[in-house]
Amino acid sequence: MPPVRESDPDILMASARAGDRSALARLISFVERGGPSARAVGRVSYPLGGHAYTVGITGAPGAGKSTLTNALLGEIRRGGDEVGVLAVDPSSPFTGGAILGDRVRMSDHALDAGVFIRSMATRGHLGGLTLATPEAVRVLDAAGKPWVVIETVGVGQVEVEIVGSADTTIVVVNPGWGDAVQANKAGLMEIADIFVINKADRDGASDTRRDLEQMLELSQGIATGAVWRPPIVSTVALRDEGVDELWSAVADHRAHLTATGLLEQRRVTRLTDELRHIVAARLLEQAGARTDDPEFERLRDRVLAREIDPWGAAGELLGLD
Ligand code: GDP
Repeated sequence: MPPVRESDPDILMASARAGDRSALARLISFVERGGPSARAVGRVSYPLGGHAYTVGITGAPGAGKSTLTNALLGEIRRGGDEVGVLAVDPSSPFTGGAILGDRVRMSDHALDAGVFIRSMATRGHLGGLTLATPEAVRVLDAAGKPWVVIETVGVGQVEVEIVGSADTTIVVVNPGWGDAVQANKAGLMEIADIFVINKADRDGASDTRRDLEQMLELSQGIATGAVWRPPIVSTVALRDEGVDELWSAVADHRAHLTATGLLEQRRVTRLTDELRHIVAARLLEQAGARTDDPEFERLRDRVLAREIDPWGAAGELLGLD
């Protein structure tokens, strides 16, 4: 398909909803860049969304997240649903390297029109990937993808935050001494709805399971009233083993969230957090613009001349008390 040169978000969205992948890619590029064009995309996608279910996958580099995502895509596609994948990489500037890596690993689905895979990097979006990712999810949602998988490259703070805000969050660990302990340190115990011990073909899987169970015991002891106990699923992603069990654990978790009203509750919390974050980001942007103003320099000179103190000057600049 020739690339779409159109930049009107309404037209692009109509094409994306009709199955035009380059229109979808272009909408997500606008989101990554941020600014007025990203906001224009948001205005178009937001009213059309609210139907997609998001699944987050996180774990240390090399744990097998991409292999597992590839296998999960097989499960989703067997059910006949379309799916969008966002591979989130806060560490890499936009070089294209991560995109290639993810594409190659998920190549089983490279030719499947029902699978849309996209890497997310920051290209100047105000608020970084923490704000750009949910917007990209909404674009995929509006384009009619009932499933969106968010995969991270590692377990950095931003990645954990992003993936932890999925409806169902999968934490991937490997057999071996201390992997569960590392996951705990990275703050993954709190966000995990499902644990996967991938590479279960290797030694030590039962030790890792025991470690995870002990840690769950401890954390659930503190969190009183928690009714969902994260299941621990063993997989060999390379051979598709245990992946059907993982997919039914996702379905169980979704059913649990829906039946208890927690899905709605989580989404309200998430939206509240996001809205706060956006308000702060936009104010920060506005404040940044004010410091480029000639008025800023005049006030600075008055501060230097000790006519006004720095806090008073900032208040005057922003019209605050
Ligand atoms: P990611 O960095 O977490 O996305 O990990 P990858 O999916 O790239 O996998 C890292 C390496 O582990 C690759 O060489 C995979 O082929 C390998 N791998 C993935 N799953 C398994 C598994 O279940 N068993 C074994 N032995 N190797 C696996």
